[in-house]
Amino acid sequence: MIQVPRGTQDILPEESYKWQYIEKKLHEIAKNYNYEEIRTPMFESTDLFVRAVGGSTDIVNKEMYTFKDKGDRSLTLRPEGTAPVVRSYIENKMQHNVEQPVKLFYLAPMFRYERKQKGRYRQFVQFGVEAIGVEDPLIDVEVLSMLMNIYQSFGLKNLKLVINSIGDIESRNEYNKALVEHFSPRIDEFCNDCQTRINTNPMRILDCKVDRDHELVKTAPRMYDYLNDESKAYFETVKAKLDELNINYEVDYNLVRGLDYYTHTAFELMSDAEGFGAITTLCGGGRYNGLLEMMDGPDKTGIGFALSIERLLLALEAEGIEIPKDKGIDLYICTMTDEARNAAGTLLHKLRSRNISADMDYENRKLKAQMKDADRKNAQYTIVLGENELDSRQADLKNMETGETVKLSFDDIINTLEEL
Ligand code: ATP
Ligand code: MG
Repeated sequence: MIQVPRGTQDILPEESYKWQYIEKKLHEIAKNYNYEEIRTPMFESTDLFVRAVGGSTDIVNKEMYTFKDKGDRSLTLRPEGTAPVVRSYIENKMQHNVEQPVKLFYLAPMFRYERKQKGRYRQFVQFGVEAIGVEDPLIDVEVLSMLMNIYQSFGLKNLKLVINSIGDIESRNEYNKALVEHFSPRIDEFCNDCQTRINTNPMRILDCKVDRDHELVKTAPRMYDYLNDESKAYFETVKAKLDELNINYEVDYNLVRGLDYYTHTAFELMSDAEGFGAITTLCGGGRYNGLLEMMDGPDKTGIGFALSIERLLLALEAEGIEIPKDKGIDLYICTMTDEARNAAGTLLHKLRSRNISADMDYENRKLKAQMKDADRKNAQYTIVLGENELDSRQADLKNMETGETVKLSFDDIINTLEEL
C-alpha cells in the first residue's frame, strides 16, 4: 500500500479548520502591520539557496530537495522563504518602489530533508515577513512587535523572546577572528561540521546541536564585546524601544541563528510551556544587511522572521488552547421518499447559489439517522420533506438550537435563511 511520504502529513478535515483559522488570523495581523502577500515559485535555481543561505548551513549541506529537470537545470524545492523573496525584490527592482521598506509576507510550504521528529517535518508551512529597503531600529521593533502580537493573539502565554546583536560586518569579522583563536587549539574535540565551520563561518560553532555543551562553547567570547560603537547603539535603541512597548525579552549572547547573512538584530521565540518537548523554537529571524549586495542586488538591507504553523499548533496544544470550530451548515434537508430526495436536490441548488450552506442525505437512511447526520454536520436548521410537504410546497423550518419550528413556503425558507 502506498503511504504518505516520510516526514509529510495529510491534514484531514478534523484538523484543517484549525489551519484555516490560523491562516485567516495571520492575514489579518499582516494587514494591521501593512505587510502584503508575495507568492514565489515552489522551486528555484539551486544556486539561489547555495548563495543566499550559504554553504556552511545545514539547509544547504544536508536538507535540500535538489533535482535536475528535463532541461538539465538544477532546481531545489524551496527550503526557506527569505532567499526567494529577496531574489524577487531584486529581479522586480522593488528598490525603485516609492514606498520603502517594501513589506512582504508569505504563507507557503517549505521542504527540507530532515530527520522526522515531533515538530519537524519534511514539508511544513511557514509564515514569514520581510521588510526590505530601510535600516532603522524602528523596523526591527515593528517586526518583533508583530511576531509577539501573532502568538499572543492566540492566547499563548508561555513565550520567551530571545534576542542578540550580531553587529555590522566589521564587528562580525572582528568577532570571528576571536572565535578562531578561542576554538583553534582544541578544534579536534569538536564534530566534523564544526571543524569545517571554523574555516567557513566560526560563529556557527555556537549554534551547533552536537557540541552545544562543550566547555569551550560556554566560555566563548561574547559577540557583545566585539560590537563597534554604531552596532552597540543600534542594539541599545532596539532594546529601549522594546522596553517602551512592554515587550519582554532576554538577551542571549550566544544566539547566532543558522543562516550566514544575518547582521545586527537576531532573535528567536521559544515556548517554555510544560510538555512542549525538546524542540521549543517557534520562530526565528533577524536582520540581513549583507544579503542583497551579496546577491548582486542594490545596496539595501532587510529584516524578517519565519515561523511554522506546525510548531504554532504544538504550542497551542501544549497550553491547552482550543481553536474554535467552524460553525457548521445553515440547513440540512431530511427526506422521506424518492420524490422528496429529488426535490431536495433542486432546493439545495437554489440555496447554495444564494450563498446558504446546505446539505442532505445521499444514502437513503431512516429519518432518525438523517437527524443524527444533521447534528454531526452541526446544522443550524433542518426541514423534513415528505409527500405532504411536496404537495403544499411548505415545510417546518426547525431551529436546532431552540427546537422552535415555523411553517414556511419553500421560497420563504430560502428568504429567511438568506436574511439570517
Ligand atoms: P531548527 O533549529 O529547529 O532546525 P531552523 O533554524 O532550521 O530551526 P529556521 O530556518 O529559522 O529554523 O525556520 C524558522 C522556523 O520554522 C523555526 O523556528 C521553526 O518554527 C520552523 N521550522 C524549521 N524547520 C522545520 C521543520 N522541519 N518542520 C516544522 N517546522 C520547522
Ligand atoms: Mg533546521
